[in-house]
Amino acid sequence: MCGIVGYIGYRDAYPILIKGLHRLEYRGYDSAGVALLAGDHKMNIYKSKGKVSNLEESAASKDISGHIGIAHTRWATHGEPSTLNAHPHVSQNGRLALVHNGIIENYSNLKTFLEGKGFTFKSSTDTEVLVQLIQFIQDEYGKDLEGAVVSALRRVTGAYAIAVVDKENPDKIVVARKSSPLVVGIGEDHKEFFLASDALPIVEYTKQMVYLNDGEVALLKVGQKMEIHTLDNEDVDPKIKEVDVNLDTLEKGGYEHFMLKEIYDQPRCISDCIRGRLLADEKKIVLSAINQHRDRLLRASRFIIVACGTSWHAGLIGKQMIEQWAKIPVDVEYASEFRYRKPVIQPGDVVIAISQSGETADTLAAFELAKERGALCFGIVNVVGSSIARASDTGIYTHVGPEIGVASTKAFTGQVMVLTLFALALGHELGSISQMEFEKYVTELSLIPEKMKKVLEQDALTKDISRTLTYARNALYMGRGFNYPVALEGALKLKEISYIHAEGYPAAEMKHGPIALVDENMPVVFVATHHQLYKKILSNIQEVKARNGRIIAIVTEDDEAVKNIAEATIEIPATLPVVAPLLSVLPLQLIAYHVAVFKGLNVDQPRNLAKSVTVE
Ligand code: GLU
Repeated sequence: MCGIVGYIGYRDAYPILIKGLHRLEYRGYDSAGVALLAGDHKMNIYKSKGKVSNLEESAASKDISGHIGIAHTRWATHGEPSTLNAHPHVSQNGRLALVHNGIIENYSNLKTFLEGKGFTFKSSTDTEVLVQLIQFIQDEYGKDLEGAVVSALRRVTGAYAIAVVDKENPDKIVVARKSSPLVVGIGEDHKEFFLASDALPIVEYTKQMVYLNDGEVALLKVGQKMEIHTLDNEDVDPKIKEVDVNLDTLEKGGYEHFMLKEIYDQPRCISDCIRGRLLADEKKIVLSAINQHRDRLLRASRFIIVACGTSWHAGLIGKQMIEQWAKIPVDVEYASEFRYRKPVIQPGDVVIAISQSGETADTLAAFELAKERGALCFGIVNVVGSSIARASDTGIYTHVGPEIGVASTKAFTGQVMVLTLFALALGHELGSISQMEFEKYVTELSLIPEKMKKVLEQDALTKDISRTLTYARNALYMGRGFNYPVALEGALKLKEISYIHAEGYPAAEMKHGPIALVDENMPVVFVATHHQLYKKILSNIQEVKARNGRIIAIVTEDDEAVKNIAEATIEIPATLPVVAPLLSVLPLQLIAYHVAVFKGLNVDQPRNLAKSVTVE
């Protein structure tokens, strides 16, 4: 993961870099660092372990002048989180500084080679090898910075987005990417350039952006057009895209944490997601993806959904909907496993990649594999212009706005909503659901934002109930049918931010193992809203009750039976079972949030995690 930022131009670089790092902190917060090129061929480097605020403190009394700089916030892959391993890494001769997002897979061989040439290493990162290799090539072959970067990258395997500066040539930054994201913002008349891992740190300065493609190296020099070359030295014309992001969405807006804000944002985000797509009055769903690729989608022999984490859970819900409405078989795969097996992909297959950031390394690689094998590639992503969006033949944006909290919330409901619209529209086009049935769902989906608000109104009760879980060391989450993936998601949320071990299970599976764990100390959260398996899950709840488990249940508002058994219940408004996950997941997000807050944990930046998983 890691976030990188850079600036070259007429303004002071440091404030831009620090603000940018804060915006990218969701990508990692093991350490932060900055390299600034000041006058007289001077380069000042400051680094600190931990958050960007630590870096700010340590740099406060130092020389932070300079109009050129690069900066980094790290999610460690090679080498422990420490100041020594923090980026930027500096070449042995002290001239070059480099920041990197990704993994240099052949770093060990390169390191041995460079050690043989007399290089010594200060850190235990893979990244330091790259900056030394660039110096080696400059020393050996007298190449300029761009040339040396290209030669070095030709010898590298792995993933990278990098930015490099040379204090002896303080008028340029060289950047490059392969498999990790990199965006360049272009200032007016090329008087300044910004670079970052995503558009968020740049958007307040310029909307003109160039997304670098894999295998491209770019030279940013003030007063001159951005130059892009491939690693084979072919010239590439920069494709400038107009990118706009509402800056308010990048602030907490009065909430204590981004996660809470994003949970509360969901009614509005879901309205944004369905706007122009779900036409309730006309009883229509309009998806340009279906209009453009009608034949291929309608005649799909199978859908393969590839995703990771929360997106994988959304995929499990999507599977049930596509199979129920469109009657087309669906496989849901962990992208990280799919990409390394020998999966059978046939010409009639459609591969759907789901990813909030659109940069998830494993999902992107699985998608590319599918593309090579001739499948139609369908992306469901949130970040416009991201790598998966660009690799898609077609797809649907979730349009829920930037998600900053590391634990995904609104991205999940956005993904589920998009999958619902897609499955329903597909079933309708195929004639496999009746007009009446279709219209019933269209009407119900249009009511979801209002119903979400009703669920969120019970936050005080949810907070109260969350106390039960605060002292737990383990928890079980149970659901059936469409609520089974919701149980998985609820357990994942609790693990991620409150560090309580939690497992999600299909409730009937409980008796094949997990029930052995149930005693008077075990909280068991049942997602038991009304659906065809309601009676069955009621029996599962009784089974836990009989073993003194502490039952918390998410139920439909008119429920009586579960309320009589459970220790605590949270209601959701009555809805159709298929769309219940859009409501039943909200209390589970809130529970995880409140438990983490009760435990005094950092909700938005949970330990060891980062938001955009751009390493495999
Ligand atoms: N591999 C580099 C490090 O460990 C960068 C990590 C990343 O981008 O996630 O420092």
